Amino acid sequence: MITVFGSINLDLVVSLPRLPAPGETVVGPDHQTFAGGKGANQALAAARAGAQVRMIGAVGRDAHAEAALANLERAGVDLSGVRHLDGTTGIAMIGVDAKGENLIMCASGVNARVVAEWLDGRLARGDLLVLQRELSPGPIAEAIARARLCGACILLNAAPSGDAELARLVPDVDVVVANSVEAAELAGALGTGETPVPEAHCAALSGEERLAVVTLGARGLIAQKGKTRWRIAAPEVDVVDTTGAGDAFVGALAAALDRGAEIARALQEGTAAGALACTANGAQSSSPDAKAIAALAET
Ligand code: ADP
Repeated sequence: MITVFGSINLDLVVSLPRLPAPGETVVGPDHQTFAGGKGANQALAAARAGAQVRMIGAVGRDAHAEAALANLERAGVDLSGVRHLDGTTGIAMIGVDAKGENLIMCASGVNARVVAEWLDGRLARGDLLVLQRELSPGPIAEAIARARLCGACILLNAAPSGDAELARLVPDVDVVVANSVEAAELAGALGTGETPVPEAHCAALSGEERLAVVTLGARGLIAQKGKTRWRIAAPEVDVVDTTGAGDAFVGALAAALDRGAEIARALQEGTAAGALACTANGAQSSSPDAKAIAALAET
């Protein structure tokens, strides 16, 4: 069983001829609404990849809540741990210009009020707890402590970047997944010096019992646990939109590890899912299913 402790958002996306400067209004033709939040994206990705998934988080009592949860519900994610709080559902307001450049404004809303106590009674030995960095730092640290006590495995995705403090939690987790920017930030905080080399960052984040994975976009990934290292190339795909590649990767990796797959196989499936997520628009809508992941992972 996978438990995702994380953010749930609604993304409002406006296509614009160009991004506005401060104080300026730029008008676009239409807007689209997408369910998002890294927690929800990864819960959906893990469920699509075939895992049993429970989501712990919060939405507001507002018009956005239902839309934010719709895909999770459809995919069979257990939402009994999602609380509906007085306040607003987290939102991301995203402007995208003709070149695909974006400008993002987020409001955490009730995501900022998620607490680790909500995990009590919901984690068991052998479960996999999946965390990202869109909740407040305190609850993330407390969730890790609770999972340790229960004997659950912990996968920490260091996204989004911007908080080197997170590095102090790395020794307490079983799997850490970071893209190259996040890995450099964490490894720097752990004292690797100024090396620009992802292999050095990956080594710094790994441990005898801890798998570190550094994703490298179109170049795939490197990973290390103890003295064993992996390098996996990303399959070549027709890239439409790379949004959500990292979340699809984490969800599929978690699903494979949760079912007891070998690390090499789990990394292959994560890589396949990340690549497939690049072949369609959006984050949740591009999240591939188990059949598509297995087919690409075997090529
Ligand atoms: P993030 O989206 O968190 O920045 P990455 O860009 O490193 O993470 O992507 C995560 C994974 O998704 C990569 O390891 C790779 O497997 C896959 N991926 C990302 N971009 C591409 C691409 N252009 N082509 C193929 N696979 C990709």
